[in-house]
Amino acid sequence: MKSFKSKYKFNSETLQYEKIKFSFKKFFLKIFQRSLVSLSFGAILMILYIIIYESPEEKLLRAEIKFLQENLSKINQRLEKDDSLLNIIADNDNYIYRTTFELDSISSNIRNAGIGGSNRYKIYEGYNNTDLIKDVAKKLDKLELKLKIQDESYKTLLSEIKKRGKVFNSLPVLQPIHVNELTRIGSFYGYRPHPILGVIQMHHGLDMVAPTGTPVYASGDGVVETVEKISTGYGNNILINHGVDGLSSRYAHLSSINVKKGQKVKRGELIGEVGSTGLSTAPHLHYEILINNSSINPLRYMIAPSPSEYEQIINETKYSGKSFD
Ligand SMILES: [Zn+2]
Repeated sequence: MKSFKSKYKFNSETLQYEKIKFSFKKFFLKIFQRSLVSLSFGAILMILYIIIYESPEEKLLRAEIKFLQENLSKINQRLEKDDSLLNIIADNDNYIYRTTFELDSISSNIRNAGIGGSNRYKIYEGYNNTDLIKDVAKKLDKLELKLKIQDESYKTLLSEIKKRGKVFNSLPVLQPIHVNELTRIGSFYGYRPHPILGVIQMHHGLDMVAPTGTPVYASGDGVVETVEKISTGYGNNILINHGVDGLSSRYAHLSSINVKKGQKVKRGELIGEVGSTGLSTAPHLHYEILINNSSINPLRYMIAPSPSEYEQIINETKYSGKSFD
C-alpha cells in the first residue's frame, strides 16, 4: 500500500530529510475530509440535476397537462362552431318554420339566456387552467340550453303539423265516386225543376250518375253521424260529421250502406254503394256538403284527383285501417 510506505519531509533547519511518522488519527481525518468533499459535491450535482432535469414522472405529467390543455382549447373552438351552427338552426326555426305555422318566434334573449348561479363555476377556480375550463363549461351550458329550447320548439311545431294535418284530412274534398266510375253529373247544386214533383225547387246537392253498386267513398275523415234506411226522400243515406268548421257531408239514395252510426271513417274509405232508393228516378248518388247543417255547393270543396291518385287514396285507407287516430 502506497500510504504505508515511509514518507520523508525536508527539514530546512537541519537540512536533512526526516521520516514522517505515520498517524492513524491524521489518516482518518484526511479520509473523513475527502469523503465530506465528495458527498457535498455529489449533493450539489444531484440538486443541479433536479433543477435542470425533471424526474420521468414529472416529465410525463407535464406532457399530459400540455396534451389536456391543447385538446381542451380545441374542444373550446369546436364548441364555438357548434354554437354558430345552432344560431343558424334557431334562425331557420324562427323565420321559416315557426313563421310558416304562424307561431311567435323565440327571442334571442331566451335562446341565449345564461344559466343562473354564481357558484356554478367555482369548482374550477384556483388552477392554472381555470379560465379555459370555465370557458368550456359555460359554452357547454349555453349549448345545452339552446338545444333544449330548440327541442321544445320542434315539439310545438310537430304538434301544430299534426293538428293541421288532421284538419286537412277532415276537409270533405274528395269526389265520392271514383273518377273512372262517374258516368256524368246529372244535376248541379241550385234551383231546378224537380224530376218527379215537376216544381222548381232548390237542389241542395250534386247528383252523380253511376250504375247501381258503384262504390261510394267518404270525401274526408270524420265520424258517421246518421245512418238512415228509408224509402222516402233521401232513401238510404249517410251523414258524416267532419269535425272541422261545422262541415258535414251527405250521401243519399244508396243501395247499400257499409258503415254504422258513430263509426270513424277515413277519406277514401268505402261507405256504401250507389242506388236509387227514396225519391229517385235512376241510380245516382245525391251528394251534399253542409256547413252547420246548411247546404253549400259541393263543387266549392270537391276535388277530382287523377285515376291513379284516386286509387292511391282508396288503397291507403284499405291498408291503414281504422286505427290511425
Ligand atoms: Zn239530388
